[in-house]
Amino acid sequence: MNRKVRVRFAPSPTGPLHIGGVRTALYNYLFARANGGDMILRIEDTDSHRYVPGAEDYIIEALDWLGIKFDEGVGHGGPHGPYRQSERRDIYRKYVKQLLDDGKAYIAFDTPEELEAARAATPNFQYDASTRMGMRNSLTLGAEETQRLIDAGTPYVVRILIEPGKDVVVDDLVRGRVVINSSVLDDKVLYKSADDLPTYHLANIVDDHLMEVTHVIRGEEWLPSAPLHVLLYDAFGWSDTRPQFVHLPLLLKPDGKGKLSKRDGDRLGFPVFPLLWKDPATGNISRGYREDGYLPEAVINFLALLGWNPGDDTEIMSMDELISKFSFDHCSKSGAKFAYDKGRWFNHEYLQKLSDAELAQLFRPVLEAHGIDPDKFGDDYITRAVGLVKGRINFVNDLWEQARFFFVAPEEYAEKDIRKRWKPETPAIMAELMEVMRTLPSQKSAEAEPVVLKWVEEKGYHLGNVMNAFRLTLVGECKGPHIFDITELLGIDETLRRMQRGIDTIKAPEA
Ligand code: GLU
Repeated sequence: MNRKVRVRFAPSPTGPLHIGGVRTALYNYLFARANGGDMILRIEDTDSHRYVPGAEDYIIEALDWLGIKFDEGVGHGGPHGPYRQSERRDIYRKYVKQLLDDGKAYIAFDTPEELEAARAATPNFQYDASTRMGMRNSLTLGAEETQRLIDAGTPYVVRILIEPGKDVVVDDLVRGRVVINSSVLDDKVLYKSADDLPTYHLANIVDDHLMEVTHVIRGEEWLPSAPLHVLLYDAFGWSDTRPQFVHLPLLLKPDGKGKLSKRDGDRLGFPVFPLLWKDPATGNISRGYREDGYLPEAVINFLALLGWNPGDDTEIMSMDELISKFSFDHCSKSGAKFAYDKGRWFNHEYLQKLSDAELAQLFRPVLEAHGIDPDKFGDDYITRAVGLVKGRINFVNDLWEQARFFFVAPEEYAEKDIRKRWKPETPAIMAELMEVMRTLPSQKSAEAEPVVLKWVEEKGYHLGNVMNAFRLTLVGECKGPHIFDITELLGIDETLRRMQRGIDTIKAPEA
């Protein structure tokens, strides 16, 4: 059967979306777009204990910032709504009943204490064919007693009845085929009367079926859920339209050992969330890619290559290019190390693609944050300053460190540069250089340079010392772009003012 490709991103609003979840959403999106399919946003909020206010809005805002778009779902509507699972209770009730009526599931009354006792009594206890006849459930109590308990308001759960000793075949587009014996699976809980809500497993399968999902692309470990889900599709009689599973490689710690966690980010200094997150309960702040100064295009490009490649060495790809190249053929089975340095590199590359004028606009708020009024300098000046230093930045914020001297004259001078470059004779040489600069026929960088170099040569001065002392007066330290590009942009008046201040204040170290 050839069905229209339909995928879903189905996060649980239990906190901020983890960067691994963003990658899952991205692969769903790329696959849907590459195949002319639909992308659904479904919110899996059936676990009321883990619900975190604000998480759903956060997820939507994050995906929107990154340019991952949905055709259907929460915030978009569509023919299969509602798309929030907590609003679909009536639907699930019907399907739970179907499984019970067909003898594919049963009701269990075991209290948490009873389950605890069973676990304590039997090592590696599992609620399954080998143990269920010793527990308190509809199989052991009979129909009448079961009904009596339900009528009396006794809390219960519904469990899937797994037949032991059966081969369960799981085909996965990335992992290949795995055959699992059903005896290793336990009779998972599908529904809890206490919340009148299904668990993740049941809601997930029912919704994928009803929403006509063709490919389930997941970021989580595929065991033990995937074989259980296969059995659930069988139990419902939906095997023919069961979606194709795709379990993505895990994101690993940057040093490769174990799953990436928030602590790795704290330890090594990178965000693991797309946007800044303020925990509503504790007030704790977690940094985000957006607030850290990443461009969304860079984050997308970086994430796309964590577990997939286009089949060649191409690294820089726009969303459209990713879509045109994407398939699961080049998706790796093994985990992908979260090489966050590479993320910085991508950001650097994407910043270089912006025009100087665009970067200047992004720099304006940074200037303001440092107490500089951008309008005092004007767009042309800011744009030229940005153009001179942008090769050295990984983030927009780095522009301040690299270009601040274009906006504030140095008030202090780097000690180590003074020690190296400021000799007793330097003030006199700088005074001469002021004269040379003042009388240049042109302040243009390319025209100023040869004149000054010729002067240094004729005087027999040490070129490195003269130029670095000059730079020290202009920048405050011996760094920055080409010196005559600096003087051209500062203008002759400001250049001379800074030189004079250097002469007046920098003291040569005692010999
Ligand atoms: N709600 C599940 C989660 O948060 C969805 C898993 C799936 O994609 O089926 O991970």
